[in-house]
Amino acid sequence: MTVQDVLDLIRDKGIKMVDFRIVDVPGRQHHVTVPATHVDEETLRRGLPFDGSSIQGFRGIEESDMVMRPDLDTAFVDPFTKVPTLNLMCDVYEPSGIRYDRDPRFIAQKAEAYLERTGLADKAYFGPELEFFVFDDVRFDTGQNGAFYSVDSEEGIWNSGKSGEANLGYKIRNKSGYFPVAPSDTQQDLRSEIVLALEEAGLPVERHHHEVATAGQAEINFRFDTLTKTADHVLLYKYIVRNVARKYGKVATFMPKPLFGDNGSGMHVHQSLFRGEVPLFYQEGAYASLSETALQYIAGILYHAPAILAFSNASTNSYKRLVPGFEAPVNLVFSQGNRSAAIRVPVAGVTPKAARIEFRTPDSTSNPYLAFAAMLMAGLDGIQKGMDPKALGYGPLDKNIYELSPAEKEGIRSVPGSYAEALAALEADHEFLLAGDVFSEDFIHNWIALKNTTEVNQVAIRPHPYEFHLYFDL
Ligand code: GLU
Ligand code: MG
Ligand code: MG
Repeated sequence: MTVQDVLDLIRDKGIKMVDFRIVDVPGRQHHVTVPATHVDEETLRRGLPFDGSSIQGFRGIEESDMVMRPDLDTAFVDPFTKVPTLNLMCDVYEPSGIRYDRDPRFIAQKAEAYLERTGLADKAYFGPELEFFVFDDVRFDTGQNGAFYSVDSEEGIWNSGKSGEANLGYKIRNKSGYFPVAPSDTQQDLRSEIVLALEEAGLPVERHHHEVATAGQAEINFRFDTLTKTADHVLLYKYIVRNVARKYGKVATFMPKPLFGDNGSGMHVHQSLFRGEVPLFYQEGAYASLSETALQYIAGILYHAPAILAFSNASTNSYKRLVPGFEAPVNLVFSQGNRSAAIRVPVAGVTPKAARIEFRTPDSTSNPYLAFAAMLMAGLDGIQKGMDPKALGYGPLDKNIYELSPAEKEGIRSVPGSYAEALAALEADHEFLLAGDVFSEDFIHNWIALKNTTEVNQVAIRPHPYEFHLYFDL
């Protein structure tokens, strides 16, 4: 879109406010709203000044002046505001006019530019699948769908499991299969409304369905795209999901493991490389139709996975999802069709253009700009070094990994067991992220310190509900 297109849109749609948005380092959006009467060519070209000191992960109060400058291609009319509002995603600049190097969007854009410079491919496509839970927006069960959120000191954070099993009051059964139709599925309209809002905002949706966990888990799949655009789409998706849920008096959460003993919510990321129109991951007749390039890319991701997870599974809660038995990956192997592997290669009905890998570890607590960039950098490192996933011991492994005996598991590596471990892995292994100046040492050290001080250490010093069960009477 040109500046003139945006000004026309403002006029044609009767827009009264323009919302300028940026993303902070952990991945939350922030905004400043300007009356449309004050938005002219100059504002759209130059952007708005803002105080960077109150944005998490940005800079201190002594050098806080920054500028947010809109990316006009991201314009969409906000479906939730009463006052007609146009939203614009922005890039962050220093007052001197250079890009701010801790802006996550800048890192994503640098990763794409680096890909082109390597000559290995010119486009990387990302297709994330964000699962989420929709709960009643109260801290007790209304009996509507059996999904709510409460704290039980014996089970940790848990939902209606016990009353659900007893089925008191003849409620709809929890976990009665994968995606039964209504009335078991009480959230079809809610998901459909989310889909309509996403499409209205310019994001094509492929399907929506109830997910495997207890009543209230959902997945809506939107179309894959290039790296930065897809990260923008992730933020747009979360914004729309949360606000439609709110309209229904519900609350949506992307937290990876809100319910003990039930499936968590992942953000599997499908990935492929193209040169022009040529798909680089397909090789007819090979295992899972994977090309040499795809195998090397897989090896790069699995080799650097412990460090990648510091970005792609960026919370203490993430590691409660990565446990056996809930379709989330635990082991660093690849496989065709196997949902217990960290990388699954979809094979059903795959054409050369649709050939891709699915990295199943990530979840939505990641900042998508950073997580996608880290995955791409790892994959490229694998290609540049000619890594062989078989020689490195990453499979392929087509068995249910959850059920392997200890002897069969010998030599199979696992994901880090905690966020502290993943951050330590990033500290030890981040050379691959520095290539082409995509990430900087400063950014990585700032990230590790931020996550350790504001999350890992904060969770560690708080008594856990389950500790009451274990120790209260000891
Ligand atoms: N919810 C599962 C996870 O945590 C994935 C289920 C699926 O394969 O879609 O990753
Ligand atoms: Mg799913
Ligand atoms: Mg999937």
